[in-house]
Amino acid sequence: MTDVSDITLYSARLVVPMTAPAMRDGAVAVRHGRILRVGERAWVRDMLADRGERFEEIRIEGALLPGLVNAHSHLQYSGMAEVGQGRYAGFDDWADAFDAVYERPHDWHADAVAGAQQMIRAGITSVADIVTDAEALPVLGETGLGGITYWEVMSWTNEDWAARGRELIITELDRIPPVPGAGLSPHAPYSLDTEPLLEIPDIVRARGLRTHLHLGESAFEGERPGTAPGDPWRFAKLESFQSLRAAGFGASATEFVDQLGVLGPDCHVAHGVYMTAADRALLRARGTSVALCPRSNDVIGLDAPPVAAYLREGSAVAVGTDSLSSSPSLDLMADVSALVRIARAQGYADRDLHERLLSAATLGGAHAMGIDVGPDRTGYLAVGARADLACFRLDDVDLGQEAGVADGLAALAEDGAGRAIRTVIAGETSAAKEDE
Ligand SMILES: [Zn+2]
Repeated sequence: MTDVSDITLYSARLVVPMTAPAMRDGAVAVRHGRILRVGERAWVRDMLADRGERFEEIRIEGALLPGLVNAHSHLQYSGMAEVGQGRYAGFDDWADAFDAVYERPHDWHADAVAGAQQMIRAGITSVADIVTDAEALPVLGETGLGGITYWEVMSWTNEDWAARGRELIITELDRIPPVPGAGLSPHAPYSLDTEPLLEIPDIVRARGLRTHLHLGESAFEGERPGTAPGDPWRFAKLESFQSLRAAGFGASATEFVDQLGVLGPDCHVAHGVYMTAADRALLRARGTSVALCPRSNDVIGLDAPPVAAYLREGSAVAVGTDSLSSSPSLDLMADVSALVRIARAQGYADRDLHERLLSAATLGGAHAMGIDVGPDRTGYLAVGARADLACFRLDDVDLGQEAGVADGLAALAEDGAGRAIRTVIAGETSAAKEDE
């Protein structure tokens, strides 16, 4: 028997492992920041007792899920909520409002830390965080969040890129703290010429790192009827997506970046709103996940993402809040609820909707960043994974009923915002409501 109890048993009325069926009266045993056992509470307790292991039990009067994974955000814009509280008539309208506030002085580091704390309180334990100003680079590591810090790259012409861009970006990439993870974010297909779009994935891949970009967020990225005669666009030696459009080609932004070799299993995209069935098939073929950010799309005045199609087609889906400059809050569960409503409105009627979208907000996000595998794997509750846990209040659900598990999942997916009561990152409680 060990002298000191170094095992914490988190037990809950509903435990949702994501890689195993959800269960009533479950428990997760945690030791040294990792998951030691997951299962029914009585079984986990017996197993520990049989081995003479002492443990401290923390009782959750609600649901225990893997820590949520926010698959698209910009923590440094957490002080720009005045932009995100507005409503806009489209991407350009929103961008004008954003630019006016961005140009003012900001403490990007303090704003990012404040945003990270809001996320942790909402049950988020890992983030795909895009950083544009270097002050915000260390924030994931400083606040204990997992995920990846992506340095944003934008506005390079082919000429400037060759002259100094490539060298500068390599220097900047080396400045990103390697823990929890580093990558590059080529902003979008329309904000970089072809040479940087071609080379950034190579620079990142050579170092075993990852990329993340905005794709299909603006209506003009969608497919258009092509008007140029003759050779397909890919042989036309075009210098940018804009020149492709100016030459009369109708290829979508997704097809464009795919031809440049940007997509792949080490890359995930944000938004994916303006995408045809062929674009979505390209993402699947390349193993590229899409982080859906429906509340951000709504604030900016865009269409809703085709979530029903993504689900029916078996696309790899994740969920992101985007930043407070385009979203009302950093509570990822509010985006899950928005996706439930959108999927239903788009005709998705299968009973698996709640479970699939909760999975998208956990395992799906981890998969999008490649952190569902390896020594620090997260996004699901299984032996050996990092003990990242999110606990939610469910006092309005009768879990004792036959349909209790389904009702619990429904409450979380349809109305999960504001329910988080405790967040555990790598075995340490990072946030807990006092009245828990
Ligand atoms: Zn974004």
